[in-house]
Amino acid sequence: MRKSQYFMLKGAYILVASILSLYVSMARASSLDVELIAPNIYSIIGPLEQRSEQNLANNATFGFIVSDEGVILIDSGGTLEGAKALERVIHTITPKPITHIINTGGQDHRWFGNRYFTDKGAVTITSTMTQADQQQRGSLQANNTARLTGQNWLGTEPQAAQKALSDSTTLEISGITLQIIPVGPAHTGGETLVWLPKQKVLFSGDVVYVERMLGIGSQSHHYEWIKAFEKIAALQPEVIVPGHGHPTTLAIATQDTYNYLTFLRSEVGKLLQEDEDISSASAIDQSQFSYLKVYEEIKNRNAQHVFEEMEWE
Ligand SMILES: [Zn+2]
Repeated sequence: MRKSQYFMLKGAYILVASILSLYVSMARASSLDVELIAPNIYSIIGPLEQRSEQNLANNATFGFIVSDEGVILIDSGGTLEGAKALERVIHTITPKPITHIINTGGQDHRWFGNRYFTDKGAVTITSTMTQADQQQRGSLQANNTARLTGQNWLGTEPQAAQKALSDSTTLEISGITLQIIPVGPAHTGGETLVWLPKQKVLFSGDVVYVERMLGIGSQSHHYEWIKAFEKIAALQPEVIVPGHGHPTTLAIATQDTYNYLTFLRSEVGKLLQEDEDISSASAIDQSQFSYLKVYEEIKNRNAQHVFEEMEWE
């Protein structure tokens, strides 16, 4: 081969390789959208579908606040790679380091990225209830998330939040005033809100789902979830950054989360009154909520879990 041919080939190879790596990083970056909510307050919106190798278990909504000294990140991503992806997105907005992480819940995507940030000196904060849920269900969830994220699980080491607050607490973090509000069990055994009273912005974690149907699992408590939502409504937030879906209003959150939970509770209540068994739960007509994503996949499971809980009330 002539030398010029060699260099042409090598050049073509480098071009293809760089296009390929650009494509891979674009594919990853494109699954996380950033939205400005109020001055210095952002949400990062991940995809609505199930965890996968490609979405790095970042299939949820996150948030961040830029303070004088650094970034306060609300929820740290579902894997080590997921944490890095959140950091990359944040650095498109600000070069400041991530100094604080607040976990709103014990579900994987809320906290599996903690370790990546604490290794760089960040502080991790949550409520005692959420911390207990992280400690209890961490390894069980890790198996599941590892299976779903394949190669991109590598290096992930779930680390529960290090600082836990037992009551509602106001924190001042380099110029930012925020409240950590434990609201009790809901989607998981203990959810925690992050409330910015001046801006009236609420990070609800998994207490609020919009655009997709919320998931009621064996770890959920649907009645307490209704009560937790009522605490959110009492705050009268102007913007809610939900656990899943785009930043939204209290009215839309009420429609997609609260109305669905109360609807299921009342329908299952009727079945129990008629002495029906659990198989009847699948026959509940939930079509008024069919506009929500993943409706077909999870509507019957949700009804069955509510039935199982209500049988024991
Ligand atoms: Zn979630």
